[in-house]
Amino acid sequence: MVRWLTAAAVGALATIGMTAQATRPLPSAVQPPETFFGIRIGADGELARYPRIVEYLAHLSQTSSRVKFEELGKTTMGNPYVIATISSPENLANLPRLMEINRRLTDPRGLSEAEAARLVEEGRAFYFVYGTIHSTEVGNTQSLIEIAHRLATDGGPEVKEILDNVVVLLVPSQNPDGQVLVVDHWYKTKGTSLTRVYPDLYHKYVGHDDNRDWFMFTQKETRLAVGIQNKYKPVITHDMHQKGGGARIFVPPYDDPYDPNIHPILAQEMTGVGQAMATALVAQNKAGVEFLSTYDLWAPARQYMVYHGQPRILTEIASVNLADPIVDSAPIGPQEARWNFPLPYRGTEWHLRQIVDYGNIVAFAGMAHVAKYRRAFLENFYKVHADWVNRKAAPYAFVIPEVQRDLFETYELLDILRTADVEVHKARSAFHAGSTQYAPGSWVIKLAQPNGAFAKTMLERQRYPDLRLYPGGPPKPPYDVTGHTLGMLMGVQVDQIEQPFDADLVDVTKAELRGGSTPSKPPWAYVVPPESNAAFLAVAKLQAANVPIFRAATRFTSAGRDFAPGTWIVPAVPGADRIFGAAEFAASGLPVQGAASPVSVDAYRLKPGTRIGLWRVANNMPGGWMKWLFEQYGFNHRVVASTDFAGELSSLYDTIVLPDGTTRNGIVRGLDPQRHDKAWTWAYGIGDGGWKKLADWVRGGGTLVAIGSAVETARDLLDLPIEKVLPEPSAGGRRGGSGDSATLRFYCPGSLLQNEFNPSHPVAFGMPASWPVFFESDQAYRLRPGFDIASEVVARYPAKGPILQSGWLLGEDLLRDQANVVAFRVGRGYVVTMGSQVDFRAQPRATFKLLFNAMFHGPSTRVSAAELAGLK
Ligand SMILES: [Zn+2]
Repeated sequence: MVRWLTAAAVGALATIGMTAQATRPLPSAVQPPETFFGIRIGADGELARYPRIVEYLAHLSQTSSRVKFEELGKTTMGNPYVIATISSPENLANLPRLMEINRRLTDPRGLSEAEAARLVEEGRAFYFVYGTIHSTEVGNTQSLIEIAHRLATDGGPEVKEILDNVVVLLVPSQNPDGQVLVVDHWYKTKGTSLTRVYPDLYHKYVGHDDNRDWFMFTQKETRLAVGIQNKYKPVITHDMHQKGGGARIFVPPYDDPYDPNIHPILAQEMTGVGQAMATALVAQNKAGVEFLSTYDLWAPARQYMVYHGQPRILTEIASVNLADPIVDSAPIGPQEARWNFPLPYRGTEWHLRQIVDYGNIVAFAGMAHVAKYRRAFLENFYKVHADWVNRKAAPYAFVIPEVQRDLFETYELLDILRTADVEVHKARSAFHAGSTQYAPGSWVIKLAQPNGAFAKTMLERQRYPDLRLYPGGPPKPPYDVTGHTLGMLMGVQVDQIEQPFDADLVDVTKAELRGGSTPSKPPWAYVVPPESNAAFLAVAKLQAANVPIFRAATRFTSAGRDFAPGTWIVPAVPGADRIFGAAEFAASGLPVQGAASPVSVDAYRLKPGTRIGLWRVANNMPGGWMKWLFEQYGFNHRVVASTDFAGELSSLYDTIVLPDGTTRNGIVRGLDPQRHDKAWTWAYGIGDGGWKKLADWVRGGGTLVAIGSAVETARDLLDLPIEKVLPEPSAGGRRGGSGDSATLRFYCPGSLLQNEFNPSHPVAFGMPASWPVFFESDQAYRLRPGFDIASEVVARYPAKGPILQSGWLLGEDLLRDQANVVAFRVGRGYVVTMGSQVDFRAQPRATFKLLFNAMFHGPSTRVSAAELAGLK
């Protein structure tokens, strides 16, 4: 076959295929990968490195008129994020017009059927393909080198058909930082007894969760990829992954549940493309393809494209040991053929080269299929968007009232919608919708718009179907979480309106979303209500500027106005004037007010420069997310290192936070020094001596905050008087293995659950009386009687009324009246445990305050009203 001719022959063929319009050097100058990289791509134990891959794509663009190369920006760690645009020279020359056609097809308002048909005829299908968002899944990036080379040089009819009909948007790595970390570590440890696989997060902050960020858009790489989506508007996205054992490759269609927000045309296209891939594999005797299993399409955190008119093609190829082969004594994977697994793999070995081959085959099968059915793909792209634009079904819209507890997070929510190309309107005058009168300035998100699918998915409540392994049997685990209602996550009131209404609306651009005014300097102090997260942005800056910060211990009145417990009181010193006067705070919507004279209330004085320790066990994703979060807020923090235990902890930290996933074993044992060199000293264990030292530090006055599964660690450390109330799966990870009997009694694999808060308690300052928390296979607690440790419940599950707000929950009654957040006095120290993940993937912003309050309150000191009055 043409594909495996020598490089020279391929080059010659490609030259024949060239048109007279090409002005740049002919593809015969293209170096094949083997020459350029000095290794055979896919050879056991060898991996092409990312910087060289970037150079290779640039080389292809210099030597082939089919390739354009562009660096779109820098990654989190400063590596180039690049894209190669590959098509026929004619299509590349016509790129602006082709992009305009895509844009027009995605917004069919005012477009006649006849015009649409003409655009479909003139348009080209954009195929966005990327690999290795998960950096230990190294094979796909190696594949993409060969895919780019073949597209740039092959003169055969299959590639010609692709180039004529398709514009390929090729991103060799969706996480270049991880590619560099993992491959460099692989070579650095070659021939040693050290662990070969990179032992920490392969994205600086979020590790494997970089593929759980497709609606919150927190990370640079996510924003770069969404930028490609919004700029080019591809008709399809192919997301290349690797998996563990079992079948050799997964291709669509997907497993249940079906998400009704995904247009049925897209469901059919996913099946069509996936099956073209499966057929190509089987036809080339590449065994072990499976479909209709394991992978569902529920959580938008994993998939931007399906709410933007495109099929998502997920391919998951079985991994090797990074680049080393798997050699077994028996045939690998299931050996019985099924309708969704027609050709079992009989081999006993599995090599990197096979991953590269499978990757090449599915990518070319996908591109060839879309090329062959170019018209249908463009027409369906148009139809999906037209169906949303012409939508008549309820609900009609979502309304976001202008008066909110936290205007800062309201702006953040609206920013997310605009980033996802959702239209946001603002009312110029008051209006009625449903049974409610809304004030001018309220925001309206109509669902009859091109990307209404994204808006609906993110703003409505999820009702996850009750899927069982068999009737009456244990729940069937979802692939990811089941609830993601954005307003609940972010603490923003969002009203669903069923029927059409009239309002005087204007379109709001991203730049126009935020608004606020700069406060005038008050004679005595700035007074800030406790509801907005933006106050914590101010805390970090005020502490850095050495400005004292106080919080009212109780409710109080000032100049006839009522202020809630936890209201911030900051003396009007020059540092405070500068910080609150900055444009940044005006735009944050933080309602900064002033007091002309001292207010009469007891208060807590925050410890100046509160020193926060973040326990980040190697490769713990919640710890990585928290690192990102602390940097966003600018908190004075550092990662706790094993070497800290050589000295006094109290000289380093006021507060230490244990994120979800921080176990006693992770703390005491840590990374094995025999298998990890000195660069990993920070993550070595602290031993039993260190464990005792940590407990002594708390009893001596330290503040410890534990979240999710780390509550067990804190309980163990200090013998806290609480006990678990929910049954735990015996095996198969925290969501439970399929069929675990514990999941029959209680199951909650990622949902929003109602909590009640005590907003008079310093840990719940600024919280409403009730709001949902995020719960992902977490725990609830009951207090155990004891004499030594005083405990107070800060948040609990309600005694009556519905607990499930969005997602899936079995065994609601087990949560009734049980504790979630508890604060303890342990000796002179302070401990707060949060059973549910209040910070999950930096998404539930409504509950960030619980964490932040706890971190700063523990080390604070109480001052009397008289002392507060003399604060200047
Ligand atoms: Zn993956």
